[in-house]
Amino acid sequence: MAKRRAVYAGSFDPPTEGHLNLVRRGLKLFDEVIVAVAESTSKKYVFTTAERVELWRNLLHGVRGAKVETFSGLLVSYAKRRGAAAILRGLRNFTDFEYESTMAGMNRQLDPRIEIVFLLTEPEYAHLSSSLIKEIVLLGGSVKKMVPPLVERELKKKLVGSRK
Ligand code: ADP
Repeated sequence: MAKRRAVYAGSFDPPTEGHLNLVRRGLKLFDEVIVAVAESTSKKYVFTTAERVELWRNLLHGVRGAKVETFSGLLVSYAKRRGAAAILRGLRNFTDFEYESTMAGMNRQLDPRIEIVFLLTEPEYAHLSSSLIKEIVLLGGSVKKMVPPLVERELKKKLVGSRK
């Protein structure tokens, strides 16, 4: 039987424990989960595309079925090119729901063959956001348990190390 593949896309600047948990749960539903790191948008990232890919590769080292790639352009087109049956998304709260439901509607209209699968974030990760995590590190706080130790180290190097 063909492998069931899902694409989990985002900017992941940086990947958090919440993102990681979603990939692990996605792998219970799909044979393969491709973490698709968004290449460039108007957003300004702390980590370059290559650095975000490298972080994910380290975090997913030895995790069977997990792959890391970059993507740009329309997500549904990328998912189709990669032969994915679904796009995997995480839902933390109502704000996510509002945004995600519009986005899912758009994507379904663009390509109804690709399903959008939502997993409700586990309560312990529901408050985690990459942007707030960056702010905490900038202000000298600890983000232990919010991101893997490797990510915390790299964040500190970027945000604290570079401060004048
Ligand atoms: P984007 O630029 O698309 O907002 P993110 O990197 O913030 O990218 O998020 C990528 C995906 O991960 C989205 O589906 C988002 O809902 C989900 N996500 C974000 N934070 C969490 C979290 N704490 N737990 C689980 N999923 C999350």
